[in-house]
Amino acid sequence: MQEFDVVIIGGGPIGIACGLEAKKQGISYIIIEKGTIVNSLFNYPVNMQFFSSSEKLEIDGIPFISKEAKPKRNEALEYYRRIVTSNQLNIHLFEKVLDTEKQEDSFLVKTDKGEYVAKNVVLATGFYDLPNTINVPGEDLPKVSHYYNDPHFYASQKLAVIGASNSAIDAALECWRKGAEVTLIIRGPEVGPRVKYWVRPDIINRIEEGSIKAFYNSTVQEIRPNEIIIETPDGQITLDNDFVLALTGYRPNFAFLEKLGIALSDDSKRLPKYDPETMETNVDGLFLAGVICGGMETHKWFIENSRIHAPIIMTAIKHKLELAAQKAE
Ligand code: FAD
Repeated sequence: MQEFDVVIIGGGPIGIACGLEAKKQGISYIIIEKGTIVNSLFNYPVNMQFFSSSEKLEIDGIPFISKEAKPKRNEALEYYRRIVTSNQLNIHLFEKVLDTEKQEDSFLVKTDKGEYVAKNVVLATGFYDLPNTINVPGEDLPKVSHYYNDPHFYASQKLAVIGASNSAIDAALECWRKGAEVTLIIRGPEVGPRVKYWVRPDIINRIEEGSIKAFYNSTVQEIRPNEIIIETPDGQITLDNDFVLALTGYRPNFAFLEKLGIALSDDSKRLPKYDPETMETNVDGLFLAGVICGGMETHKWFIENSRIHAPIIMTAIKHKLELAAQKAE
């Protein structure tokens, strides 16, 4: 069985940053990723443009050059892929971590392909794998998706987009521009306040001119093969419908965190407990990195402000390893 100072679970931007930093600090490591390199980014909409400038998405100061100030998904894939390959990072792809057991002074990490022993574990699994469901009849119909990819698919179709945040608004605008008949269903009274400042006027103008229909303070009650039922302030209405994009956000895998023994706050935020000085959780040797740190507050952490976790964690692990070595002498 292979042994490492640290097993990093998740090969997103932050897991990769952790691997790079471990390598720099001479810590033996492996990154285990259940999909491809930066799997979440790979699954983002094909035309997606980051709200951050490329420089703010850089890890370890490695320059990220993009055509425009704010890079596109493809440029980010290129950037993070090149970091992995040119630094020959030790990463296992398409290998899923199924369980991690704390043993006396190490962890046993079990995957669908093998087992590893680790003195420390970094959990950098993000939140993009688990969508927030809307829990209405018909949500499981094949025409309903919680992920948006390419606007071409929806051309000449009646598309309902549920949500009011960046993902929903980007999808609504793009699909309308490619010829979809778009209806936005928004639970609150307005387009989300965190929608990118240069996109907000665009959607508001499209709604005001009637190009995109929006129902505010409204919720979906039922999805049928050819219709959608909406509860609006003016009563229930039924719309003809071909496809539904339920872009209502995502959440970390809390069950996995709890199974590992990580304490979560009792309130609806479900914030995991960790020391911000080291990013170590209440479980000795188990660290959190990246957007997973925000619990249900998935907007709190992003690449820009969580890339710093990598040096913090690896410095703390290095210190722990040195203390253990001194103790053993
Ligand atoms: P992720 O990138 O989600 O990586 C987690 C990885 O863990 C995934 O690759 C996943 O496959 C893997 N994984 C999960 N479970 C397991 C398992 N059991 N075993 C093995 N591997 C596993 N942030 C910014 O800073 N700027 C932006 O402009 C920006 N734009 C965004 C636009 C969109 C549409 C979205 C959704 C997010 C955006 N973000 C942005 C947020 C940013 O992309 C995420 O914060 C980033 O992906 C977080 O990196 P991460 O490494 O923490 O998590």
